[in-house]
Amino acid sequence: MTDCIFCKILKGDIPSTNVFRDEQVTAFRDINPAAPTHILIVPNRHIDGVDTLANEDEPLIGHLVNVAGQIAVQEGIAEDGYRLIINTGANADQTILHIHVHLLGGARMKYPMG
Ligand code: AMP
Ligand code: ZN
Repeated sequence: MTDCIFCKILKGDIPSTNVFRDEQVTAFRDINPAAPTHILIVPNRHIDGVDTLANEDEPLIGHLVNVAGQIAVQEGIAEDGYRLIINTGANADQTILHIHVHLLGGARMKYPMG
């Protein structure tokens, strides 16, 4: 998608601080961190959100979550705990329509979030 910020990041048209990349997914630091560690993990191929996933996307989404867990270990936040979030739609404040997992950690977080 030409007007998608994350597709532009993936193409290198917008700079990002990458922490991981393979043939399926890329992870980079959130520009406006909501926790001491805040990383976004995104598929390299544009998918709008959870409800536009196809059955064939299941291995990709599994990989996305697996990579998020590996990055949590790599970042040193796994032992104390962390949160994975996939915001979906307006009520959840999804602002970028390219599916992404937020990895948040490094501090105690409130739940529920309101
Ligand atoms: P969401 O509200 O779930 O769609 O999350 C979008 C996230 O993308 C927000 O946490 C933003 O801070 C983050 N974001 C927006 N633009 C950029 C960017 N250029 N580089 C890194 N993160 C970004
Ligand atoms: Zn995109």
